[in-house]
Amino acid sequence: MTGEFKFDLDTPVYKGNVSCNTGLFIDGKFVDAVEGGTIDVINPSTGKILTKVAAATSKDVDIAVAAAKKAYKTSWGLKVPGTQRGELLMKLATLLEANIDEFAALECLNVGKPWSESRGFDMKLTLQTLKYYAGWADKVHGKTIETNEQKLAYTRHEPYGVVGQIVPWNYPLTMVSWKIGPALATGNVVVLKVPSEITPLTALKLAGLIQEAGFPPGVVNIIPGYGATAGAALSLHPDVRKIAFTGSTLTGRKIQEASAKSNLKVVTLELGGKSPNIIFDDADLEQAVKWAAIGIFSNSGQVCTAGSRIFVQEGIYDAFIKAFRQAAAGINTQTGDPFSEGTIHGPVVSQTQLDRVMGYIDAAKAEGATPIIGGERHSLTDGFFVKPTIFTDCTPEMKIVQEEVFGPVAAVVKFKTEDEVIEMANDSNYGLACAVFTENVSRAVRVSNALEAGMAWVNCNVTTEHNVPFGGYKQSGYGRELGAYAIDTYTQVKAVHINVGLKI
Ligand code: NAD
Repeated sequence: MTGEFKFDLDTPVYKGNVSCNTGLFIDGKFVDAVEGGTIDVINPSTGKILTKVAAATSKDVDIAVAAAKKAYKTSWGLKVPGTQRGELLMKLATLLEANIDEFAALECLNVGKPWSESRGFDMKLTLQTLKYYAGWADKVHGKTIETNEQKLAYTRHEPYGVVGQIVPWNYPLTMVSWKIGPALATGNVVVLKVPSEITPLTALKLAGLIQEAGFPPGVVNIIPGYGATAGAALSLHPDVRKIAFTGSTLTGRKIQEASAKSNLKVVTLELGGKSPNIIFDDADLEQAVKWAAIGIFSNSGQVCTAGSRIFVQEGIYDAFIKAFRQAAAGINTQTGDPFSEGTIHGPVVSQTQLDRVMGYIDAAKAEGATPIIGGERHSLTDGFFVKPTIFTDCTPEMKIVQEEVFGPVAAVVKFKTEDEVIEMANDSNYGLACAVFTENVSRAVRVSNALEAGMAWVNCNVTTEHNVPFGGYKQSGYGRELGAYAIDTYTQVKAVHINVGLKI
């Protein structure tokens, strides 16, 4: 299955070829899968097959882990100074920057993301992340600790060794950068089961740049494969010392079980969410509406931090609903081909995801919620398009309020008091993020402190910075990505005690 995927694009926003290798990237080379399996890669805007890529099984995982283990011992880890690791990461970032439009176009093709999002957000954050961690590579060090005069004690922050990384399809390349950036900066080697079997193309293209940048073979291995085979084998592998996972809570649980069953590998989990977005009577209405729309409709709602539960105080409720409905109607008119200049709303990623989203819409209708806009598919092409949807008359126990839809579907709940909304917002198994809209700074601080979530936005929503930690509470996972906090999750601490005079 090694070979090249090539696709010619002549669109208003991008003209030219996009291409990538379709094999597994192991030990610095593109190779076929041992058992010869393949994965169909679909264009979600048309429902048509784009190409096939190799599908790794446990045999390929074994080979990739062995290559990584060898690289860790011979040409990475503590053998290579941080400065050198940082230079290579920076070289990778520079190569990516030189090809950034092609990467953006490939992501649009494979994920259905509008160009404005792919080029304007994903690629920027990806680049910033790689550059940021390139800068960290020579700044990872421990502490000296005062004990007594006869002892020198200090800590070293050492890498784990082989790290397995598993990521989803909603921000494929961005998620790769969040994973490999801190892992490589701290001296780990990685086996990455690429951004989900559904969206492997940009990660495979990045593998080509990793080769070109001159990383020693085996330091980064990128293997497309199905979760139940390649993902499970990676999380069970006895030579993998840490697994960093982003995906659903259900799969996160399996990863944790696999760690317990195998070698107690360290696990960090970035999982699902059902984030509350709370709009108080004293909010700036126009701003709250715009942010609410970004919060639930960007990336077609396939955002783990999506503000999918919108709590609106009774005094502002009618005005908010009217304006929010108008905002959704506007987005609906800008739905379509990801490569058209005006498009801001693309398809959901797959037939499976479409069925899942429509299933939640049907359940919400059956439970008595009112779809004030949307609630159905778009008839655009055979692609997986869902209209921006708003449900009102939602009550806390409804499925649409409790469960993660991962689509462009907002559930609106009316509330009266601050205490009541805090109670309702925290009534969730998830705790990834929250947003609070109010012009009262005391209330903003009080409420954001009271909400059980790893990230809180005040008068904004779903914004992410490469240098600010990202992660959840409760069943949204643990461990943090981005910023200096991610560096800690990729290192283990060794305490060194040196006797400088004690005789016994
Ligand atoms: P998923 O859990 O189905 O898949 C995620 C990844 O896990 C894929 O690469 C898949 O192949 C792999 N996988 C599946 N089964 C596996 C197994 N048994 N062992 C090992 N790996 C396995 O999730 P998805 O549908 O791809 O992504 C959507 C989910 O991801 C949503 O719940 C979303 O909230 C979550 N997500 C979370 C964050 C975050 O940072 N918290 C970011 C993006 C997405």
